[in-house]
Amino acid sequence: MSLTGITAYLRPQTLEEAYSCLGSGALAVAGGTDVLRHSRVGVHTLVDLGALPLRYVREEHGFAVGANATLTDLLEHPGLAAHLDGVIAGMLQAVGSPLLRNAATIGGHLARRRYSDIVPVLLALDAGVTVYEGAERTLPLADFYGEGAAPSRALITEVQIPPAGKDTAAAFLKFSRTVFDFALLNCAVLVRRDGPERVGHCRIVVGETPALGASVPEAEDALRGTPFDDASIAAAAEAAVAAVPFAGDQRAAADYRRALCRVGVRRCLEEARRRLEEGRR
Ligand SMILES: Cc1cc2nc3c(=O)[nH]c(=O)nc-3n(C[C@H](O)[C@H](O)[C@H](O)COP(=O)(O)OP(=O)(O)OC[C@H]3O[C@@H](n4cnc5c(N)ncnc54)[C@H](O)[C@@H]3O)c2cc1C
Repeated sequence: MSLTGITAYLRPQTLEEAYSCLGSGALAVAGGTDVLRHSRVGVHTLVDLGALPLRYVREEHGFAVGANATLTDLLEHPGLAAHLDGVIAGMLQAVGSPLLRNAATIGGHLARRRYSDIVPVLLALDAGVTVYEGAERTLPLADFYGEGAAPSRALITEVQIPPAGKDTAAAFLKFSRTVFDFALLNCAVLVRRDGPERVGHCRIVVGETPALGASVPEAEDALRGTPFDDASIAAAAEAAVAAVPFAGDQRAAADYRRALCRVGVRRCLEEARRRLEEGRR
């Protein structure tokens, strides 16, 4: 980022104060890993969120994660790291490098609305998010992204991750050229058994298509109510391939992403099935 246009650096102590600082030409900064990489025309004031009391991970009916918690804070929280067979921890280990994760915050990550391994997993887990715009409101993360562009002053304050529930397994897979690269495509799934043999609630999310992750209802419909066998897994993967509007960019062609999606959804579902079966023993 060109910092030459920055004439003020503010460090508010309260949410109300931070919100009032975020007028036109002011930009919030948390870990700064994204802010520092991209030039922003017309920005003259940086509003450092680091003094706000939003750096925590609490285990309470699932998990409440403050927006200023770093990705390392999440990775090192024993309960969160073990949640759903470590699906969040496994994904975070594939996000950039340890140095990046020490600085990057969950709030800053979700506010960027692009290039994400974290969003697909949080969507699969039906996470919620609390935002502050003069008052706090909590909404499903899917609705937060469904609402389109964020109001420029909305501050993310917390992310909620629901408890796992019984007979539930999740899995995540990232395809990338090297471990430090952004994904060419990623997938996250959550599957809950309904009775001994049938799939009940399920989420199948495909990301970096190259759009930000979104769940694929057509694939979920193909899986729900089925015996969760090879045939239903293959049908869900095909439904995802048919439904997702893939595009090409500098990282991968649309056809390549289509092929990755077929393999990624299948492998994620197979992993979730394996975890469910292990959990029964
Ligand atoms: C080298 C590199 C490699 C990376 N690799 C990966 C990867 O493999 N996978 C992946 O998923 N991501 C990856 N990332 C993205 C990384 O996860 C994000 O840059 C990071 O999480 C952003 O968090 P931050 O706290 O640094 O945000 P900042 O840079 O501080 O802010 C980012 C944006 O969010 C806004 N913002 C910050 N906090 C809030 C808040 N609480 N409420 C509202 N708006 C807010 C800022 O105004 C800014 O627009 C990579 C980034 C880099 C630089």
